[in-house]
Amino acid sequence: MKRVKGLWNKTVFPLFLMILTPHVALIMWYVSVHCEGSYSVFLGHFAGKPFYTSIIELWATMRPPSQFSVLVLFGFSVWSVILMKLLPGKIIKGPLTPKGNIPVYVDNGFLNYIVTMATFSIITVLLKVQGFSPSVIYDRFDEFIATLQIFSPLFCVLLYLKGRYWPSTTDNGVSGNFIFDFYWGTELYPRIFGIDIKVFTNCRFGMTVWALLVCIHALKSFELYGFVDSMFVSAVLQLIYITKFFWWEGGYMSTIDIMVDRAGYYICWGCLVYVPTFYASVSMYLVQQPVHLGITWSSLILLTGILCIAVNYLADLQKQEVRGTGGKCLVWGKRPNIIRAKYQLENGKEKESILLASGWWGLARHFNYLAEIMLALCWTVPSLFVNIMPYSYVIFLTFLLIHRSYRDDDKCGDKYGSFWVEYCQMVPHRIVPLLF
Ligand code: NDP
Repeated sequence: MKRVKGLWNKTVFPLFLMILTPHVALIMWYVSVHCEGSYSVFLGHFAGKPFYTSIIELWATMRPPSQFSVLVLFGFSVWSVILMKLLPGKIIKGPLTPKGNIPVYVDNGFLNYIVTMATFSIITVLLKVQGFSPSVIYDRFDEFIATLQIFSPLFCVLLYLKGRYWPSTTDNGVSGNFIFDFYWGTELYPRIFGIDIKVFTNCRFGMTVWALLVCIHALKSFELYGFVDSMFVSAVLQLIYITKFFWWEGGYMSTIDIMVDRAGYYICWGCLVYVPTFYASVSMYLVQQPVHLGITWSSLILLTGILCIAVNYLADLQKQEVRGTGGKCLVWGKRPNIIRAKYQLENGKEKESILLASGWWGLARHFNYLAEIMLALCWTVPSLFVNIMPYSYVIFLTFLLIHRSYRDDDKCGDKYGSFWVEYCQMVPHRIVPLLF
């Protein structure tokens, strides 16, 4: 039974995801642009044809990488790396790793984001004056997907080899199963020429490109129809969320993405390809499917979305503050209810950490996930209920976060043992208070 579970977790599931996800990334674009945002129209395109010819036809609709797409993506990557290196920021420390290392970062993510978005706005105005528009990226997005689909797996191969033969820290290693090692990664905090790879792929590329694409989609929509409130509401909520992300980037360095997930296909390919294609799919959909919501619905959705973003942010911040002050702070006006949980590093050294069992962390063990799902729903609802396609992201996110809550329970159970059991008894629900 254990062998079957191992085979599933370490080989079949990773292989399945690595085969499936590149198609999904392409399908999101194809359905938005060629199928009126409808999965049934999409299926109709390939009805009656054998599965493999449908797949070949689908990939054949995508134009190959062009000089334009390669230059834009390469130029943007170089820009991001330069900003990462040059912009000032406080030196912050990540959490202690299982091998006893402490990663160090320059906290310049918010500045990086502001400089990039401001530069994009200036470029947009300059291009518009000349009669051009950055919305050409929407028009030629298939070339960008093709470029990402070729370069990102190659980048993951490089990361696999780097972690295996030239690791940056002792938090590296292989399991001996190539499929799993490639998928999961061989190194926790790889750095190349001092550039932290996960900060680059997750924050400076993935999250920033998501924000830029939302702006490009909104611009395209404006060029086509003028002001459309559904696009406005969806774009504003996504941009507030992404801005919040960069404001809190220091806290992101203590999340599962960074402290647990290694730099492999799962997280790096995900941030390089999946975030631009899948996460930005709602606004991509709205370009061709505008909806007029009216002022009442627009305001209601906008306010609910902002509330959810605030809850998500405050929950993440609460954990960070309680740990940062060693529990000497107030949570919702009261002294926090905490467990001082002991755990051991791989070298046997004993350490202590704090588990917060009040405030947002007393409602459910991952109440922040509920707010995350709700806010994604808020920026999707402006598309109304004509098609399932725009809901793909929020459906995916729900599965991802439920799965993650189980993963985190396993991870924390292994790390904290009886202290985690005690916390689970105090806070019995994973994500939704009283329900789940
Ligand atoms: P959490 O922020 O919930 O972090 C979990 C970690 O926090 C645990 O591994 C543990 O780490 C520590 N922890 C767990 N319980 C407690 C507690 N009661 N008190 C103190 N520390 C605790 O999860 P994520 O890292 O997954 O999420 C971070 C943010 O990113 C969230 O806002 C989430 O919604 C968002 N997110 C967004 C995704 C997206 O694709 N849009 C995907 C995933 C997350 P330790 O070992 O340090 O104890």
